[in-house]
Amino acid sequence: MTPTLFIDRDGTLIEEPADEQVDRLDKVRLVAGVVPALLSLKAAGFRFVMVTNQDGLGTPSFPEPAFRSVHEFVLGLFASQGIGFAAVLICPHRASDGCDCRKPGTGMLKLAAREHAIDLSRSFVVGDRYGDIELARNAGAKSILVQTGYGAGELEWHAAKWTVQPDHVAETLTEATEWILRQPR
Ligand SMILES: [Mg+2]
Ligand SMILES: [Zn+2]
Repeated sequence: MTPTLFIDRDGTLIEEPADEQVDRLDKVRLVAGVVPALLSLKAAGFRFVMVTNQDGLGTPSFPEPAFRSVHEFVLGLFASQGIGFAAVLICPHRASDGCDCRKPGTGMLKLAAREHAIDLSRSFVVGDRYGDIELARNAGAKSILVQTGYGAGELEWHAAKWTVQPDHVAETLTEATEWILRQPR
């Protein structure tokens, strides 16, 4: 079965701006090294699924068209480098909406698993927030916290009270990739 890496977007693949909304092209910055990292995973047979929480997407404070055009630009940038995503899943809800797709809820992973015959127990989740780690745990996947985006702060300020620890903590997606490739599959 094709191994799958579920990847957070903001703070993991692209930098997260201070206002947490990537809604203009001039806010788009790739996190350093992500393209070669993903290409090495692709060469090892991995498939990618993007999973991102976009709080309040489609509300007046975060209009859908602004998000959409930038998001398509980002996907196009990755595609131009040979990196495609089997699925791109977005939770537009806020925590107070009580949906089951908002990470660390497993709705997005379960949907992808059904549609693409993914074995979650043999999958990895990488992200820069504790919610990405809880997501992996909730779905029965392995977790990697990267110290890009909010990752370093999460580790420094909050890790002591986490009830779930990451399977691996990596400086960057490059280092995360090296660890993933060392795991039994
Ligand atoms: Mg993130
Ligand atoms: Zn949701």
